[in-house]
Amino acid sequence: MTERIHNFNPGPAALPLSVLEEVQAEMLNFKNSGMSILEISHRSDLFAEVLASARNRAKRLLNLPDNYRVLFIQGGASLQFAMAPMNFLGPDDRADYINTGTWATKAFEQASLLGKKVRYAASSEEKAFSFIPKNADFDPKARYVHITSNNTIRGTQWQHYPDTGEMPLVCDMCSDIFSRPVPVEKFGLIYAGAQKNLGPSGLTLVIIREDMLHWNPDAVMPTLMRYKTYSDHYSMYNTPPCFGIYVAEKVMAWLENEIGGLEKMAALNRAKAERLYQALDATDFYQGTAEKEDRSLMNVTFRLKNTELEPVFIKEALNAGLSGLKGHKSVGGCRASLYNATGMDAVESLLAFMKDFEKRKG
Ligand code: PMP
Repeated sequence: MTERIHNFNPGPAALPLSVLEEVQAEMLNFKNSGMSILEISHRSDLFAEVLASARNRAKRLLNLPDNYRVLFIQGGASLQFAMAPMNFLGPDDRADYINTGTWATKAFEQASLLGKKVRYAASSEEKAFSFIPKNADFDPKARYVHITSNNTIRGTQWQHYPDTGEMPLVCDMCSDIFSRPVPVEKFGLIYAGAQKNLGPSGLTLVIIREDMLHWNPDAVMPTLMRYKTYSDHYSMYNTPPCFGIYVAEKVMAWLENEIGGLEKMAALNRAKAERLYQALDATDFYQGTAEKEDRSLMNVTFRLKNTELEPVFIKEALNAGLSGLKGHKSVGGCRASLYNATGMDAVESLLAFMKDFEKRKG
């Protein structure tokens, strides 16, 4: 087996080694079918079992009330930016958005493009999206409030979701789904591209409150854009992203059986991130970019005081077996993504490297 590297990629990102090994072991002959999962019919009993298990695991992990549906969709989170307003907003309906960076902006832009009546109820743009807004001017008539639970690029995360009363949150949970428990009742829609904490890209997990399947019934839209299509057909209206669902099922099994659920996962994630933030705070050679109280436990963003050293830092880190530390191209700097499958051993190796780098260059 080739040596595996410490993977801090922002997504696609690290997956649990035991899951990859299982996938490998089953690849040529899945459950005595004589075929791989990539080759069997999505209408077969074998796949039906995988799909049902994935759905049930998601329900258990998130402790979903009975009036929520779990859907498996393609098109990434970016398609959800459009699907949510299409499905929820009729011609006279309005929705509020909170702008916490690139992905939130893109969600808003898609709703605007579709001619929907949307506005920003709060924004952290004035300080380069380095914080999570604490006050919002909600429209009492808004049908939903859209937020991005974790801002992958800026390294901020909602630690307390906003109080929107009866108004449901519609949430892009791409980069922190399954990293911590979620108070699901506050949410009408949760969506997440799989490629961070769940599995391969090409799969989007969508959790929807049942009544919201019927919010905009008269709108004309392609069949595959309507959440109800996926709900009515158990995500099998057309060929679903079978391989993604298969891997996600295994990742969720790992979360349930090896980790022991989302409370435990959250404690591990907190420990990893705190270890790294403490080290950042102990020196001014490295500088965190997000406000302390809003720091993400998933994406730790930082600069080097001497920004000219950043490319050297990233290159030397890679040579030392630490991959994926380059900040998003739109903001530069450095970012260590600490998703579920990136262990404390990776964080310790990163810290040792950072200490040594500072000693040599500081
Ligand atoms: N939202 C967030 C928070 C993200 O981090 C990303 C991707 N990094 C996206 C949306 C876009 O996801 P996709 O590529 O699946 O459309």
